[in-house]
Amino acid sequence: MQLPDLLLQSIEHTKGFDKTAFEEVHASGEQVVSVRMNPLKLPMLNGEWVLGNRQEAIGNKQEEIHHSSFITHQPVPWSSSGYYLSQRPSFTLDPLLHAGAYYVQEASSMFLEQALKQSVELDQPLLVLDLCAAPGGKSTLLQSVISKESLLVSNEVIQTRVNILKENIIKWGAGNVVVTNNDPTAFSKLHGLFDVLVIDAPCSGSGLFRRDAEAIKEWSEDNVQLCSQRQQRILADAWNCLKEDGVLIYSTCSYSSEEDEEILDWVMKEFKVESLELKVENEWNIDEVQSTAGAYGYRFWPYKVKGEGFFIAAFKKKESADQLRIKIKTTQLASKQEAAIAANWISSSEGLTFIKQGQNIAAIPTQWNETIQYLMQELKVRYAGVELGTIAKNDLLPEHALAVSTILKEDVVKVELTLEQSLDYLRKNEINIENPHKGWALAVYNNFPLGWMKLLGNRINNYYPKEWRILMR
Ligand code: SAM
Repeated sequence: MQLPDLLLQSIEHTKGFDKTAFEEVHASGEQVVSVRMNPLKLPMLNGEWVLGNRQEAIGNKQEEIHHSSFITHQPVPWSSSGYYLSQRPSFTLDPLLHAGAYYVQEASSMFLEQALKQSVELDQPLLVLDLCAAPGGKSTLLQSVISKESLLVSNEVIQTRVNILKENIIKWGAGNVVVTNNDPTAFSKLHGLFDVLVIDAPCSGSGLFRRDAEAIKEWSEDNVQLCSQRQQRILADAWNCLKEDGVLIYSTCSYSSEEDEEILDWVMKEFKVESLELKVENEWNIDEVQSTAGAYGYRFWPYKVKGEGFFIAAFKKKESADQLRIKIKTTQLASKQEAAIAANWISSSEGLTFIKQGQNIAAIPTQWNETIQYLMQELKVRYAGVELGTIAKNDLLPEHALAVSTILKEDVVKVELTLEQSLDYLRKNEINIENPHKGWALAVYNNFPLGWMKLLGNRINNYYPKEWRILMR
């Protein structure tokens, strides 16, 4: 693995940099694999972070590797739900990934949890914007740590990347979320709306060289400069939408100071902010750095931490921001009758409002109704709350999102599938099961809903979303 000389030279004097160790860790071929479990779905695990099924592993070597990796887990020290795996299983062939039981996430970036816990009162109802969100790693983490009275707006500018973001958000199962597809400039008019602004900026990606050799080929000094300018533009565009005393969290997976400390200096120069110092335990081996203007940043070196290269910093906004007065032109509420039909499918409609997007009924948190309706008016909203389904013949044609959400009612018919059957279900292959019930049923693996099927007596209709089906054999 030939690392770019110009990168090595440019980071030579950075705190914590050790050229030999840096080159060794890249040459070693070691892969660190980590997952973050979904606390919102923990009850389905009976309170235990154990995935996989030992019994099914017996007698099948491939399955043994696949499942046993989850049994030997070691916690990511700065995360409450992150675990290292002893080897990389075939995640695609694990139904629990598709059920949203966990997310495969690089360990260093899970430090966002610490940055939030130390700078934000997370038990308050907060409006949080994740501005550069696809594929959804930080957004699903945010959903795990904000209160259920909070709302996450998860935004991705690139249209083709919104689909994967939406998929991961749906699988995570929480309804206090809106997915948008806007350029950061669209947020500048939302004066002082957000309590927290997370900018996990597009960057030159040197922190991921160990995982992605392609990123080395694409690395150049010019690109670092371009990224640095883009990062400033994104920050400038979004700045207005943060409240006074709101918290900005900025992160990259680049080692270049142009994208890290120099951006912190730029923020200190352009805006009135307080840089927030975060507490890091000695044994975490994370380097606290200070930019020229004195802002705190946190560097993760892959030979010091068990994770990839990462940089993160937190600021508090110390300038007044005009408070936006929300004016809604039209509301998109479901009719009483539609709401009553939809309510039959969820565990409780308390605190939920039923809205209509096209033919689809969605449940959104009532306390965020105005805000969500306003966002629908001002932004390109691609998803809101939990999509429940469409009304046909006085009943609900349920959406996949409802099946994997945390609001689905308990007493739906469930059909527990074996691993083999689950994979067939997720591939949209035919499955043969014997069940006397006729009608909608939830396909379930190890207690986790995978999606809908319709039992028709002699056959089964598989309602797993076609675009999400597993193609791997
Ligand atoms: N936060 C994501 C996660 O944890 O899964 C990863 C985000 S990735 C580092 C940066 C994202 O910024 C990408 O999804 C990329 O499409 C998006 N992006 C690219 N150019 C952008 C721009 N000009 N403004 C805002 N976002 C941009």
